[in-house]
Amino acid sequence: MSAQPLAAGAPLLRVESLRKAFGGVRAVDDVSFELGAGELLALIGPNGAGKSTCFNCINGQLRPDHGRVLLGGTDLVGRAPRAIWRMGVGRTFQIAATWASMTVAENVQVALLSHAGRLNRFWGRASAMCRDEALALLDAVGLAAMADAPCGALAYGDVKRVELAIALANGPRLLLMDEPTAGMAPRERNELVGLVKRLVRERGIGVLFTEHSMDVVFEYADRIIVLARGGLIAEGTPAAIRDDPQVREVYFGSTGVPAAPKDA
Ligand code: ADP
Ligand code: MG
Repeated sequence: MSAQPLAAGAPLLRVESLRKAFGGVRAVDDVSFELGAGELLALIGPNGAGKSTCFNCINGQLRPDHGRVLLGGTDLVGRAPRAIWRMGVGRTFQIAATWASMTVAENVQVALLSHAGRLNRFWGRASAMCRDEALALLDAVGLAAMADAPCGALAYGDVKRVELAIALANGPRLLLMDEPTAGMAPRERNELVGLVKRLVRERGIGVLFTEHSMDVVFEYADRIIVLARGGLIAEGTPAAIRDDPQVREVYFGSTGVPAAPKDA
């Protein structure tokens, strides 16, 4: 991995005055926040609040109208998604991106080869190359036993774990996860986000994620930022966000009070 060391005290990611409009819709309206290495930051807000637009302005899919996206001090705005990925910004996808006919291990091996820039030269030998590294990643996500199963045979929750292993194969410094648990049962959601938390702590990766289950957000996020109609309306610890009157009104509605974290 070609990550440059961060200056002491510098955040991994600093988003400054980000704006993106679609016609008259201000999808992201002057949003600023920071994210540290090893931190799990949840971006929450109602549907249409601008969360995905925010993600896409960071990963290069969209060019913001205004603002800066600093990764370790380097501005990502204007760079191609592939270049941003190469700089260590990984992401998992809402739609399963694994290849069903290849084995679990082969999917991860291809990602490792691609990261190392060896994919074209060594394609034919992918089943032998990087196997040990792939197995280590699969072990980390709890899928070692499934290494030689075709991806198409996996349960949905396990496909999400393969996607996480694939994202980690790129050695990311920052991982963007837009609804990583979409379509999963509550228990699987908890397991996946708990796994992400453990792995990113160990590896010092910063994570920005969205998640619909407030139970999961309050249980695992280190910090939460709240978007409503494109604007950032609150930022703080899970406890502070749960008690924030504006968040309750705008995001949870007048009656919906989210559950307390289990170990609070
Ligand atoms: P979220 O992810 O929080 O649900 P989005 O970022 O997807 O919200 O959308 C924010 C707003 O921007 C919405 O009003 C949405 O309709 C609008 N929007 C998002 N993407 C586009 C697009 N490509 N073209 C036009 N409008 C868009
Ligand atoms: Mg979205």
